[in-house]
Amino acid sequence: MSMIKTPEQIALMREAGRVVATTLAAVREAAGVGDTLRDLDALAAETIATAGATPAFLDYHPRWASVPFPGVICTSVNDAVVHGIPDGYKLQDGDLLSVDCGAFLDGWCGDAAISFIVGTPDPVDQALIDATDAALARGIEAARIGNKMGDLAYAIGGAARRAGYGLLADHGGHGIGRTMHAEPPVPNDGRPGRGIKLTEGLVIAIEPMLILGRKDDYYHDDDEWTLRSANGRRAAHSEHTVAITADGPLILTLP
Ligand code: MG
Ligand code: MG
Repeated sequence: MSMIKTPEQIALMREAGRVVATTLAAVREAAGVGDTLRDLDALAAETIATAGATPAFLDYHPRWASVPFPGVICTSVNDAVVHGIPDGYKLQDGDLLSVDCGAFLDGWCGDAAISFIVGTPDPVDQALIDATDAALARGIEAARIGNKMGDLAYAIGGAARRAGYGLLADHGGHGIGRTMHAEPPVPNDGRPGRGIKLTEGLVIAIEPMLILGRKDDYYHDDDEWTLRSANGRRAAHSEHTVAITADGPLILTLP
């Protein structure tokens, strides 16, 4: 299927994106010390269902995974970077929680993620989150007709590196549309002027994943899904689904 969407298709993706944004906002609002990740997953399931949408992650089973993903959202706590499973873990004061949500509405997918502190923030963690949000903003800003994918990747990676953080190795964003993960890959680090041309109607998920310290390495948890930082330090993840339009980047995953 073509990577390029018509304005009508982008309008439909905007509605799917709205469901994702609403779900993330509900989870953020609800997440408190003592809540379990499973509680938050149930809230996400309810919010998505109420909107008439379908979760994109539940039972998602890519070739590299031996078991399908068991949650509606990914909940990644502290050294978990992405793909954390919403289980019975009870949130502690000061935990850094990343929540990733995908949903389908009328056959179109939205995908977004936020990171925030539960309870009392440590300034070091808050700075990591702010840098991740800033790297995402730089990436979105570069999602313009006339740029190349390498320009966008460099905008994200350069922002993260200059701020002194690591980037999750081998992971980045992706094209999105009728499926959650589509062509083209959207790397979080790259060289300006390289890669495919960014053209009108391309819709991509941009998602920096930053780690405290300068190391990019990670390992797979025993649950086979959760990716944890190799240095054991905290990580943050921010994501939006973005359409490249004649009027500039259009964020589809806003409330
Ligand atoms: Mg996501
Ligand atoms: Mg994604």
